[in-house]
Amino acid sequence: MYLPDTIVAPATAPGIGAVAIIRLSGPRAFEILRAIWHPKRQGKPRQMVVGDVIDPATGAHLDRAMAVRFPGPRSFTGEDVAELHCHGGSYLTHRIIAVAISHRARMAEPGEFTRRAFLNGRMDLTEAEATADLIAARSESSLRQALAQLSGALAKRVRELRKKIVDIRAHLEVEIDFSDEDIAMPSRHAMAQDIEHLMGDVAVLHDSFSRGRVIREGARAAIVGKPNVGKSSLLNLMLGTDRAIVTAIPGTTRDVIEDAIHLGQHAITLLDTAGIRGGGDDIERLGIERSHAALGEADLLIAVFDSSRPLDDEDLAVARLCAGRAGVALLNKADLPQISGVAELREAGVAMPSLSISALTGNGLPALRDELTRAVDTLGAPDGASELAISRERHRDALARALTSLRAARESVLGRMPPEISAVDITAAAEALGAITGEVTGEDVLDAIFREFCIGK
Ligand code: GDP
Repeated sequence: MYLPDTIVAPATAPGIGAVAIIRLSGPRAFEILRAIWHPKRQGKPRQMVVGDVIDPATGAHLDRAMAVRFPGPRSFTGEDVAELHCHGGSYLTHRIIAVAISHRARMAEPGEFTRRAFLNGRMDLTEAEATADLIAARSESSLRQALAQLSGALAKRVRELRKKIVDIRAHLEVEIDFSDEDIAMPSRHAMAQDIEHLMGDVAVLHDSFSRGRVIREGARAAIVGKPNVGKSSLLNLMLGTDRAIVTAIPGTTRDVIEDAIHLGQHAITLLDTAGIRGGGDDIERLGIERSHAALGEADLLIAVFDSSRPLDDEDLAVARLCAGRAGVALLNKADLPQISGVAELREAGVAMPSLSISALTGNGLPALRDELTRAVDTLGAPDGASELAISRERHRDALARALTSLRAARESVLGRMPPEISAVDITAAAEALGAITGEVTGEDVLDAIFREFCIGK
């Protein structure tokens, strides 16, 4: 059960800083503030006032600090909230928090402030998740998406869809309640059509996941190619560091190396995969298995070929991997005499745009960045059906559950099953959508959502 005790936590990152904010929330927040902080003058709610922080047990003067009170329910958590803006220093922050705890405040769990905001109806779950996304945003586009979700756009759409489901259930209930009486029943055919429309709308949102995930997390681009074509050199060039080990011995990149770069408004995670090749020792084989998994997950492929040599069977295998995939083909080692070019790539069946590059000299890097930016723009572009995009697996799974239930309901409606049967599926669909906004959500789901927050949020 949810017990509103009073929680405390630093709201600012640990370490030395100009200011450290300590936040209290709960019924005893103001009482604890009064016990440890003595204002120069009485301030109004929401007004910053300067005062002295004194340890009531010893009378020791700990700090001169500003404080502000936000009385519930019009506060972030919906409870009484007090913030103490102290001088930033980890010892000082700990010391003040210890005093608050000695006054029966409890150290907050990660995300507990936001969890309370949700439980007190200050925000729905999509907004709570958007708060986490905002904090974790790694690019301009992920920031914009988090802000849109924070403004409630997704919640609004999900509620609209849920309302339509509830309307259909109401029709079914009329049938259940008045089946013996002589009143006009909604036609089964019309109801099945309504459900079908709804399925289309739910599917549009469900299918926006890959686009939304690219916007939120950035695209994942896997660098593929046979050993020694220059994949690690390319990764280092793009990252501008020596992140991966470069050697002239084939097969040295044994694991998948991940790192992110910024391209325009997007973040791109680069995955350097072990050379696509059978055999080798066990560790290398493990790397190859992982690289195949990474390939499956990647949104884009950066296929690398050595243009100073003829394409061989291993290159043709890489070319086959590119079939139907988005990305770019690179003719690397452009600084050496050229043997293979675009014509050879096309002949091998590579349909992706191709570029010449030298991972050694850096020639061709700006063109590669432009091409990748274009590719990610395309992945994240609205598909015309909806601007809105979901970006969390939790949302996608709930929408998939709703679709399954709607499909079952449609079949039972068309199959002239008793209305009670269809009503069960329709109710399950409504519940699945309700889980997205948090109208129907178990404790375990809440735990999973709020665990990813930092302490103090
Ligand atoms: P990987 O096995 O595909 O990761 O290839 P590496 O990045 O380890 O490179 C293999 C060898 O090719 C190393 O000796 C690199 O210095 C060399 N190399 C990589 N890119 C270029 C390039 O653009 N030009 C030339 N001349 N050599 C390159």
